[in-house]
Amino acid sequence: MRIGVLALQGAVTEHIASIEKTGAQGLPIKRVEELDGVEGLIIPGGESTTIGKLMRKYGFIEAIREFSGQGKPIFGTCAGMIVLAKRMAGDEAGHLELMDITVARNAFGRQRESFECDLEIKGIADPVRAVFIRAPLIEEVGPDVEVLTLYKDEIVTARQGHLLACSFHPELTDDYRLHQYFADMVEDSMTANL
Ligand code: GLN
Repeated sequence: MRIGVLALQGAVTEHIASIEKTGAQGLPIKRVEELDGVEGLIIPGGESTTIGKLMRKYGFIEAIREFSGQGKPIFGTCAGMIVLAKRMAGDEAGHLELMDITVARNAFGRQRESFECDLEIKGIADPVRAVFIRAPLIEEVGPDVEVLTLYKDEIVTARQGHLLACSFHPELTDDYRLHQYFADMVEDSMTANL
């Protein structure tokens, strides 16, 4: 099973290392054609405005929408979650507009720009160590979205069918269980698509 990591900007190599711990193959995706060679896609953290601009420039908006339309799983982490969202708080325009969530950027304020904590994630047995860096929050979810994690009453992990999103950086710790959760989603989608 092959899982791609969008490699326009951001934490790409760390995601590939975490994917490989699940036993799947991790591949950097720099050109739209390379999407044909993977069964799932991770959109990493970084800076969402920059990632969005580069996605437009290289034709990834349409290509990833099509990838999603085929039921292939997509996992957005931090800036990647912002890029996946249908709506942004404030007047900012969305990017892929695929997942039925409203996100607020840099939502933790200056005091809590970067921090680590243990989070309960629905579907994963024990708490997962999470690293937050200028993280976004999910302010609202549509009816088909399942909330997987609350941190101090705020939504920081959610799933809508084949789409998964989290506010933090799961690739920056040795704990690869959220990558395993995503790899299981990819495996399930492959059996469903047979
Ligand atoms: N603050 C960044 C943004 O708005 C996201 C930060 C991150 O991915 N660590 O795009």
